[in-house]
Amino acid sequence: ATGLIAFLGLGHMGGPMAANLIKAGHDVVGYDPVPAAVEAALAHGIPMASTAHEAAAEAAVVLTMLPSGKHVLDAYRGVDGPGLLSVAKPNTLFLDCSTINVDEAREAAVIALEAGHRSVDAPVSGGVVGAEAGTLTFMVGALPEDFETVKPILELMGKRIVHCGDHGAGQAAKVCNNMILGVSMIAVAEAFVLGEKLGLTHQALFDVASNASGQCWALTTNCPVPGPVPTSPANRDYQPGFAGALMAKDLRLAVNALESTGVAAEMGPLASRIYDAFAAGEGAGRDFSGIITEIRDKSV
Ligand code: NAD
Repeated sequence: ATGLIAFLGLGHMGGPMAANLIKAGHDVVGYDPVPAAVEAALAHGIPMASTAHEAAAEAAVVLTMLPSGKHVLDAYRGVDGPGLLSVAKPNTLFLDCSTINVDEAREAAVIALEAGHRSVDAPVSGGVVGAEAGTLTFMVGALPEDFETVKPILELMGKRIVHCGDHGAGQAAKVCNNMILGVSMIAVAEAFVLGEKLGLTHQALFDVASNASGQCWALTTNCPVPGPVPTSPANRDYQPGFAGALMAKDLRLAVNALESTGVAAEMGPLASRIYDAFAAGEGAGRDFSGIITEIRDKSV
């Protein structure tokens, strides 16, 4: 009903998300500069354009799932020529699902509106598994009428669609949530290592904390020690899950938001430094709960 969706960025997340739109019978044309992504998309039955402009020119919705805010703003504005905003039909809905800075999301909205278009930020949580299963959570920053337009599209790729507020509010919700996650995982990991030193079994600490005031997702779903939660990445040598590189990226976005708003936070920036160091090494490709190994190794 919405018309053609130009889907730009068919990587780990975008590929399966676009495949779910196709599966639901939606009209989609994809674009990605990387040949392997193009081949995978074609194998899923996603028609591919040879340029982003070609895809965007015909679309009612331009959906981006790109690595960073710079990619999004460059694509919108154009780098060595006209950008997508100038080739799209008037009143095209620009729907960015990438995780980017709140300030960049607001800037994207300003330039899209100036060019006579509509803008929505809708970052996701749920990872590749959620993208494949169509069970992502979308955190949406949009004007009310634009939210109504994107909701049925997002429902084909996700399970929970939350309207968080105006432009940028989706990114704001995402960055706040992931700052809680980064900080709480470090706290849970430190507590397990302390418990080890104090002669406490993992199971005993888990049984107490998971039913007491220490209860949180980092403990009860993504438990950083093997055993208490059989499905947590610790049980498969910290294969992600949620990779350290992505946690480091999201915490850098949190620090940028803390700095631009002047919040007197200490834990967020500290978590960011800890995960930057983790992601500089093998942690980049391991689940972020693997931070416990670093804490243990550094302990005397
Ligand atoms: P990815 O690197 O696998 O995919 C990004 C794709 O964008 C690549 O295929 C790349 O070739 C393509 N691309 C780059 N520039 C482009 C352009 N100008 N036009 C079209 N395509 C372009 O990354 P991903 O893991 O799919 O993540 C995408 C976004 O989703 C990121 O912002 C990430 O932070 C966010 N995210 C990822 C996860 C996850 O678990 N992977 C979870 C939540 C959110």
